Amino acid sequence: MHRSVKYLHGVPRSLCRALHETAVTRALSFSVEDIVRLVEPTADALYHRESLQVVTDRDYKYKEGQNYHGFQCERVEYISDFDLTSHTLRHMETGLELWYLNRNDTNNVFSINFRTPPVDSTGVAHVLEHLTLNGSEKYPVRDPFFKMLNRSVATNMNALTGADLTVYIFSTRNETDYRNIQRIYLDSVFRPSLLYIDYLQEGWRFEHKNVHDKRSEIIIKGIVYNEMIGIFSENSRLFRKGLVSNLLPELAYKYTAGGDPLEIPNLTYLKLIEFHQKYYHPSNARIFCYGSFDIMDTLEFLNEEYLYHYDYTDPAYSHVPLHPRWSSPHYAHLPCRLVSRGAPKDKQNQIGCALLMCDRTNVQEVFELNVLAELLIRGPNSAFYKGLVEPNFSGGFNRNTGYYFTSRDTYFAVGLQDVSAADFDRFYELFQQTLHKTFIKGFDPNHVESVLHKLEMSLKHQTADVGNTLLFSSMALWNHGGDVVANLRVSEMLRLLRAKLSENKYYLQQKVEQYFLTNSHKLTLTMSPDESYDENFREAEKKLITQKLSELSPGSLGKIYRNGIQLEATQKAKENTNVLPCLSLEDVDEPIGHPQLTEELIDNVPTQLCAVPTNDITYLNCLFNITSLSHDDAMLVPLFCNVFKNMGTRNHDFREFDKMILSKTANFDFKVKVVEDVEHGMSYKIGLLMTTYALDKNVKDMFALCEELLLNFKLDDTDRLKMLIENYISKLSVGIAVSGHLYAMLCSAALVSDAGQLKSHLLGIDHIDFMKNYIEQNSIEDIRDRLKDIGSKVFSKSNMRVAINSSEDFQPTVLEHYQTFLQNLPTFEDMTETSKLRLLEPSFQHYVMNVPVNYCAKSFFAVPYLHEDHPVLRVIAKLVSAKYLLPVVREQNGAYGTGARIGYDGLFHFYSYRDPHSRKTLDIFDKTYEWLAAMSDRLDHQTLFEAKLGVLQLLDWPTAPGELGIDYFILRVSHEDYCKYRSRVLSVTADEVRSVVHKYFKEEPRHVGKCILGPQRERIQSQIENV
Ligand SMILES: [Zn+2]
Repeated sequence: MHRSVKYLHGVPRSLCRALHETAVTRALSFSVEDIVRLVEPTADALYHRESLQVVTDRDYKYKEGQNYHGFQCERVEYISDFDLTSHTLRHMETGLELWYLNRNDTNNVFSINFRTPPVDSTGVAHVLEHLTLNGSEKYPVRDPFFKMLNRSVATNMNALTGADLTVYIFSTRNETDYRNIQRIYLDSVFRPSLLYIDYLQEGWRFEHKNVHDKRSEIIIKGIVYNEMIGIFSENSRLFRKGLVSNLLPELAYKYTAGGDPLEIPNLTYLKLIEFHQKYYHPSNARIFCYGSFDIMDTLEFLNEEYLYHYDYTDPAYSHVPLHPRWSSPHYAHLPCRLVSRGAPKDKQNQIGCALLMCDRTNVQEVFELNVLAELLIRGPNSAFYKGLVEPNFSGGFNRNTGYYFTSRDTYFAVGLQDVSAADFDRFYELFQQTLHKTFIKGFDPNHVESVLHKLEMSLKHQTADVGNTLLFSSMALWNHGGDVVANLRVSEMLRLLRAKLSENKYYLQQKVEQYFLTNSHKLTLTMSPDESYDENFREAEKKLITQKLSELSPGSLGKIYRNGIQLEATQKAKENTNVLPCLSLEDVDEPIGHPQLTEELIDNVPTQLCAVPTNDITYLNCLFNITSLSHDDAMLVPLFCNVFKNMGTRNHDFREFDKMILSKTANFDFKVKVVEDVEHGMSYKIGLLMTTYALDKNVKDMFALCEELLLNFKLDDTDRLKMLIENYISKLSVGIAVSGHLYAMLCSAALVSDAGQLKSHLLGIDHIDFMKNYIEQNSIEDIRDRLKDIGSKVFSKSNMRVAINSSEDFQPTVLEHYQTFLQNLPTFEDMTETSKLRLLEPSFQHYVMNVPVNYCAKSFFAVPYLHEDHPVLRVIAKLVSAKYLLPVVREQNGAYGTGARIGYDGLFHFYSYRDPHSRKTLDIFDKTYEWLAAMSDRLDHQTLFEAKLGVLQLLDWPTAPGELGIDYFILRVSHEDYCKYRSRVLSVTADEVRSVVHKYFKEEPRHVGKCILGPQRERIQSQIENV
């Protein structure tokens, strides 16, 4: 239900970085639950160009009891954990609460939230969320949300509907921009246009399949309608929905807030208007402000423009109570879709147990249950891992395992995927056994310590996105009226827990007893694939259409045709967007400063050092060039990365080693990277990247653990290896539907060059196919030997480069430990550095997937990042996305998302996301030149400037201290290159756009690939002939 165009969920990190695009994990998720599972971030100022306003002493600028523009300041507190001052203000007339976190951070955040617990599954809150950002009294423009994306330098702009709330949020570092978007958001929520025609487009409508043919079949269309079909094409979503609705059946959570596709058509326009009047009232709203911009302008504007016109209404109607507790456990079963690339059909079942926990507003209790949940489910020392995963009769934990605290009652769930139905009883027995065992034996103090260490470190670790993270971790608590300020005092909660643990050694066992063993509010949910799942849906849909149509009068039937024509005309009409504010060139800030990187050869290892305030943490990246591995070996590196660190070492078994790692570091991450040459684009390297970080005081141990892992890893335990491999494969096919456009682009890129092919084989759908085949055809002993062999070839000083980010003061100490580490690493003979890139002949591929929507992509080779045409192509990609694809593929044809982009590797991509069409969309991609040629002839200054701003948004994305310099480290894109690129983007002229359009788009490119991920359809053959 998110409306972010930064569809980057699951993008290979290198790609994100190369594009300067941060993987917004929030994007594309349907409930807020996926968002932030822990109070994650940070403290201390990020690396900033300038600091605006800082509270240096405790003499607060705004004082408790004082009134400011109709608001009373109720509470002011300094929170040392995040180095911020929290202000709670209340609007005196309406009771609206405004929470202002003043922090020395220029990435300012603003959000307005409404409590919107659903009363049915028609998705009214969700459709309203779409419509709200579709024009308002002062900004009567269709979809100002998408239009503003190119008129601002926002670092986030989003709206989302959760299970019981609706949130409108944005962040930006530019104050003019901040005021602009704030005005639009506020006018949108309080005075939206809510036009009927937009309701038809965004919500649902009857329409003739062919809009112009009255005799063609009448079907249901609508963006939210299609969006929800797309969301529930992922089985893990269905499971989550079933879990929540069956665990909390007497509250709003039994409904699908986003809308159940078969219920959405029961929504009426009138109900939507009423919903807005009732729920979008200031007394039912909460406003969040974060960052360095002063709050007075916001207060004054809010009060005078909007709040002043409202009276107080008691928001009790939207209050969500606690669920009555059951006296005995419940059971439920769901059918789901058979996953095409998943396990064999009889193994594709899921089972999970969920237990209702405490009230979300009990802040300390939620914090402690969070720690308990970590102890129960994370890593090889956790009780459920030992009890449920290690017996190895499943594909490991499913996606709905964890402690969830976004609903009023929090709940804990643990589940397994890829289980045969015959093992359901076994799961349940093991589940109970595990709890009893844990209750009797208790927890290993070292394990508890490692979990608490992880929490402490997460407080120190700085992300680039503190304001958004703080809001998301507080949102549900706030929505239910809890103490959000107390929730930020993480050290205090931790101190309290430690005190309880030392006072009472049975403390955690007692929690297990209270919340698990004697808790009768327990649900067991099972889910099995049904081959007629889609057919059943289509039949139910057909029945619904027939029934609804039979209820319509002849007049209303005629209106279906006229509405279709009118909607099409509206979508195609040109409109005046000048009413929307836009930044001007003068408003655009200078590029962000960057700390100096130094490069040294230490013990012959190229080492990049970045001195930056890291808040007592040292970040380590080691990149091993593994290009010279044989193709067959390279194909197994993703598997190697996934399993070898979980097998223990010669000196420590895997459980002990995991505890050691977690008590000293933030774990080790290994990834394979295919990195193309950014200058000429005609060669590439394959890298294995190891990332970790640790508190400065643990750096010596961090290097010792690195050494132990890289030199002494041990793959001998074939039973464990087999289990890890099976879990790895089982997880590969989960989430394809959520990130389908990214998989589609990997697939189409694979048709353009051999490097693209390799990427798809290492990261994409081809990887799943390859792995499943490989495992079937080889014995576990053979696989073990192959992995051992790979491990013995890759970790060498001769093919390693290292990047270390730490504070300047600590650098000498880091270097000392680093040198000791290097002395013990072996040196093998030099490995080949690069492979020559080979471009391929045009082709098309259709990956058949059992999903009800398509993901289309087209890629062609243009020029790599450092070529002078690249910034121009990037501006063109923005133009194509905003002015061509969005209106046609999304608005007219009903795809949920679409766009164009160019990667650092020189590949220009087109994509669509959750698309009802396939071939039609590829045709639209193919006609880009006709549109570009016509457009570029009349390209005006404003349109061009907006496209540049769109590029700038991504270029100027904030970077966390641990990630500074990593673009250069991996891609060799320096800060100077970045500045040059940025000024080139800003200086692109209309003439240059025309000449680049002519150069790259006029002729069909020589190296081009197209693909569709989606259901089997007839006429695919003609597609192939078309290429
Ligand atoms: Zn949505």
